[in-house]
Amino acid sequence: MAFRKQIAEELERSNKDLEQFAYVASHDLQEPLRAVTGFVQLLRQELDNKLTDTTSEYMTFVIEGVSRMQSLISGLLQYSRIGHHGQIRSIDARGALDRALAHLQVSIQETNTKITFDDLPMVRMDSVQLSQLFQNLVGNAIKFRSNGNPEIHIGAVRQDSSWRFSVADNGIGIEPQYAEKIFLIFQRLHTRDKYPGTGIGLAICKKIIERHGGEIWVESAIGRGSTFYFTVPDKGEV
Ligand code: ADP
Repeated sequence: MAFRKQIAEELERSNKDLEQFAYVASHDLQEPLRAVTGFVQLLRQELDNKLTDTTSEYMTFVIEGVSRMQSLISGLLQYSRIGHHGQIRSIDARGALDRALAHLQVSIQETNTKITFDDLPMVRMDSVQLSQLFQNLVGNAIKFRSNGNPEIHIGAVRQDSSWRFSVADNGIGIEPQYAEKIFLIFQRLHTRDKYPGTGIGLAICKKIIERHGGEIWVESAIGRGSTFYFTVPDKGEV
């Protein structure tokens, strides 16, 4: 028993170290990147009419590369902060969903997305994180839409001592062989010119749900839409 406790404590300490490392690294890496962008822009001004189409294009590639690295780092920073977030307490899931939908309002309108939902329960969660979870899942359901108007349903059913939520869409779907891979950091199934993004969204969802003692998974097939499920136990871990 004492041995198990010791292992658990060591694991917790090494997780905290890793989080701290990711936080510090991502924070400190932002600064030199800002400097690179700034100086390339100065170079462009200085060289102005000496630039050829090719050298000008190279500079654009440098700036785009840096900007991409900044998005990846800020994703990493967001990911590393999840463990340090707010209080886990009893909250209304419907309130968290409403806040997520308010953030997505423009894309919901632009894409004519129809959203329906069941009565949603009270759950023990960090409300900012539940909202972020809904925002990532509903945002993806809109982004990975098929040709028709997107239709999304958010459901909740009671299961033993937990709630099982679902976010179902009629989008492009996912090949079952990638069902686990998409929850890993920076893993994506499409090129950026087709669908923008960094591939951190679902990794964040997974970390949020694990922090609350639940599970998250997807059931999908290409062309048949996707349903993301997550569970929230009555007593989440704090
Ligand atoms: P991002 O949206 O930035 O690519 P995510 O981590 O949110 O990153 O998603 C990872 C990948 O999972 C996406 O690139 C996409 O290939 C796939 N995916 C996520 N949600 C859906 C969805 N609702 N329908 C189809 N594919 C999805």
